[in-house]
Amino acid sequence: MPAFHEAIVIGGGPAGLTAGLYLMRAGIDTLLLEKAITGGAAINTYHIENYPGFPEGISGKELMDRFSAHAKSFGLKIEEFANVEKVSLKNDIFTIKSEKNTYEAKGIIVATGTQPVKLGIPGEDRFIGRGVSFCATCDGMFFRNLDVAVIGGGDAAIEEGLSLTNIVKKVYIIHRRDKLRAQKILQERAFKNPKIEFLFNKRPIEFAGKDQIEYVVLEDVRDSSKIKLIVDGVFVYAGSTPDTSFLGELIDKDEKGFIITDENLATKTKGLFAAGDVRKKRLRQVSTAVGDGALAAYELERYLLELKK
Ligand code: NAP
Repeated sequence: MPAFHEAIVIGGGPAGLTAGLYLMRAGIDTLLLEKAITGGAAINTYHIENYPGFPEGISGKELMDRFSAHAKSFGLKIEEFANVEKVSLKNDIFTIKSEKNTYEAKGIIVATGTQPVKLGIPGEDRFIGRGVSFCATCDGMFFRNLDVAVIGGGDAAIEEGLSLTNIVKKVYIIHRRDKLRAQKILQERAFKNPKIEFLFNKRPIEFAGKDQIEYVVLEDVRDSSKIKLIVDGVFVYAGSTPDTSFLGELIDKDEKGFIITDENLATKTKGLFAAGDVRKKRLRQVSTAVGDGALAAYELERYLLELKK
């Protein structure tokens, strides 16, 4: 028999943990399924300084540990390493299949966030774990006093590039245009940091080396000229993408796969809500994920009340 819960939250980042907390406070029996460990992408953020209430900033790991402990204090049940593969709906009951188990619920909140985008260039897969990384907070310490490259010009590239300067000798930030996408405050700090050198209008076309990465081939986007940049490590921050394939036809998506919701976070399927970075939205922050989690939980509570009538 599948395990039954009134509500299931899929995804244990800031949006999912907030939704779980609100649902439990509303007296709704809720299970949260997380495919890895709780905390979401925020757990890999070295320092969060724009989450209200923490003027000194806080590490992503500590903030997410607090979110998790807070949600659990209201009785939220969390199953980690529960990778959801399919969600289906019959007679107002959702069936959720993970690799190992099957669950049923009356309502669902999808808060599965995003994954890093790969560049898809030669050498990338081969050198993952051998100099190529998608997480400076996880792997930065392997490059103490060495030279690294960061690929990308968004918030993540600049923020994590700045955090790497506390560990490494030099950070090359490689961006394919001549203007950064990142917030102004991060740009200003990076331009002032003596350990950071920007290489604009360049895109990586190959990662190369023997057993470990030894250099990156960069192509100038203006004249296609190429240079070899010798580095000990590369951190790729080329954006992020959602995985919503497990929801099949239950949702509408935009061209990048983000879930389209209405202003109350409802999807096209009644009882199925989306919250956080997985949703089509303009601003992806811990603070906006928290707002989404709270609203999705409130709307799910209203939906469950309607079902009872
Ligand atoms: P992003 O904003 O999409 O930036 C991705 C960067 O990678 C862009 O500069 C893009 O260049 C570049 N890029 C994409 N594909 C590339 C390729 N094939 N080769 C070379 N460069 C490539 O992604 P993100 O920085 O991961 O941020 C994701 C979301 O999380 C954003 O909404 C961001 O605001 C949020 N976030 C916020 C914070 C914060 O508030 N502190 C921290 C981290 C992330 P172009 O600019 O030319 O497109």
